[in-house]
Amino acid sequence: MTTPPSTSPEPTAADASEATAPASLPSILELSRDKLTSTMLELGEKKFRADQLWRSIYHEAVSSFDDMSTLSKPFRKSLSEKYTISTVEQAMFLTSADGSTSKALYKLHDGELIETVLMRYETDGHRRNRKTACISTQAGCALGCTFCATGQQGFRRNLTVGEIVAQVIEMQRIAYAEDEAQMAEGKRTKGELQGVTNVVFMGMGEPLANYKNVMAAIRVLSDGQGLNIGARHITVSTVGLVPQILQLAKEELQINLAISLHAPDNTTRSQTMPINQRYPVEDLIRACHRYADATGRRIFFEYVLLKEQNDSVEQAQKLGRLLNGLHCHVNLIPVNPTKLGPFDRTDLGAAKEFQVGLKQYGIPSTVRMEKGIDINAGCGQLRERAIDILGA
Ligand code: SF4
Repeated sequence: MTTPPSTSPEPTAADASEATAPASLPSILELSRDKLTSTMLELGEKKFRADQLWRSIYHEAVSSFDDMSTLSKPFRKSLSEKYTISTVEQAMFLTSADGSTSKALYKLHDGELIETVLMRYETDGHRRNRKTACISTQAGCALGCTFCATGQQGFRRNLTVGEIVAQVIEMQRIAYAEDEAQMAEGKRTKGELQGVTNVVFMGMGEPLANYKNVMAAIRVLSDGQGLNIGARHITVSTVGLVPQILQLAKEELQINLAISLHAPDNTTRSQTMPINQRYPVEDLIRACHRYADATGRRIFFEYVLLKEQNDSVEQAQKLGRLLNGLHCHVNLIPVNPTKLGPFDRTDLGAAKEFQVGLKQYGIPSTVRMEKGIDINAGCGQLRERAIDILGA
């Protein structure tokens, strides 16, 4: 099991030095379910052994072949000689002062650093307790949004399927450990491990720029005998890569699509999101209509509020007109200021006024305060801080 979350929000160099040398064996997480089955058959095992292995890795989140008690000892030994399980190594782990958010910095086999966040939501009367893993899909990002710490660090490479899924497994181990602690305290029914309930592809990188691996990762995450995260509990976020949105519309997946819009017009959007020059707002919204028509799914628009940049009531009304007639919901997010970014946070009063402007056009919206501000939970901020502290 992963070390339980620290209660201290302060990272130390000692935390980072716990990371061990990269494994030289390939990760078994890179095998699709079909590939895992055919590989086990080639090794002379029966199909049900492959099913047991899949369940141990993804449902039980067992971290070592040695601990997979349903498998024979010789089979475990043979697996550990051929594969490792996870290729991500924890370099830093922080938990916010209120305990709602934890953020891990993981080191990959080639030294790249990626971030993963676990957000804990108490039941609000309508929805059950949730634990949402926010995962990265690329090391760095090429798209250069000016308000984003990752975008200011440049692109290095796409993550593999195994590296994407490994982040959820790591969070699953933490969530299971918390469930077990609650059982021991009598706060949860015995035997009832909830684990991670939702996954959002909103960490470092642009998910649709790593389309093939993200689609393969979604298939692994939603496998009913593994992590069993229902497609409706998975959200893929994009800055608006129009061809990939149209491709996604054909996948027949019930996932949620979130578009990072952040401005209602091309002039304002291009100032913070260079991708807008390739796919202007009109093309993006047209693709959203086609996506919504093809899937019947509501689209979520993420709108980071940047003080005196995109947060006026006039801009809210413009946004309302732009989205009119589209089955959608707008999430308004007062931005986490980054060390390098030029923008300040919109205050709550201005965010509420923005909401009123949207409502005039019948567009539903929610103001979402970012979680984990004290641990740099905004995308790319922990890596930035680790480099300061560790010279990583
Ligand atoms: S907001 Fe997303 S797409 Fe834009 S630079 Fe950051 S990671 Fe890349």
